[in-house]
Amino acid sequence: MAQSADLGFIENPLDRLHPLREDAAALAGLIARDDARAFVFAGDRPLLAGSSANGATALFAHDQAVRLAPDGEEVFLGLDGTRRPVLARRRAPIEDGEGWTGPEVGDLRALALSGALPAAEVGMMALAASMLGWHANHPHCSRCGAVSQMRIGGFRRDCAACGAQHFPRTDPVVIMLVHDGERALLGRSARFPAGMYSAIAGFVEPGETIEQAVARETREETAIAVGRVSYHSSQPWPFVSSLMIGCHATAASREIKVDPAELEDAIWVGRAELAQALRREGPIKVPPSIAIAHWLIRAYVSGEV
Ligand SMILES: [Zn+2]
Repeated sequence: MAQSADLGFIENPLDRLHPLREDAAALAGLIARDDARAFVFAGDRPLLAGSSANGATALFAHDQAVRLAPDGEEVFLGLDGTRRPVLARRRAPIEDGEGWTGPEVGDLRALALSGALPAAEVGMMALAASMLGWHANHPHCSRCGAVSQMRIGGFRRDCAACGAQHFPRTDPVVIMLVHDGERALLGRSARFPAGMYSAIAGFVEPGETIEQAVARETREETAIAVGRVSYHSSQPWPFVSSLMIGCHATAASREIKVDPAELEDAIWVGRAELAQALRREGPIKVPPSIAIAHWLIRAYVSGEV
């Protein structure tokens, strides 16, 4: 069984059941099934249902999930790889020292990193976390301000006051390894662990192509001009709802000028040094394999680009 320590959040077996979820009675029938399962989030943090025969799991029996989060919103995610209905519920955060005696409280990023859960479960949790986060942060209609209502198992919110329909958002982020053939451009944010450098990244803005966003973000953060851009791969990143679009790009200039509001440092790193960093040797650290930046670097080191 695939575990979650490789590129995180990309394996997702869910059949989301569009358009069947438009049928409220059919949806209620699925949710009432004995084999229905549910993730439970306390704020942004998943609860762990303990170890099963196949290893650890964050899936609870649905009725147990209702007891753990009796008042929170519930999203119907779809059917998993074995055609079990899978839901997600959210309850209030559990604060340290609260005297919580329920299941262990996890951390989605750490769980993905640890490889403790099956990769498919971590992928489904990415959808769960993004959806629950969207509902928690969008209780009102953004057009008229009235309270809106969840529909079709959570994939839409409708406003009864003005008739507007609102859909869960995904925020595209470009992340790019810019290189000049011999060396690649890495940046470091002040919040990174000591020694850690990664690919440059930033949100795509309205009215922009992926290629334009790659060029703009690289120029803004490092003053490096970008030539040809090529797509590599993508990854949902559920903190809260990003889609990471991984690219390689050729550099059209060499002199780095860091924007201190964005980065603490940016450097050119040679292939040999990057290979060392992937082996976790040498002074420079690079992101772990759950992050797409790791695979952009790996592709560059192996000569794929
Ligand atoms: Zn409205």
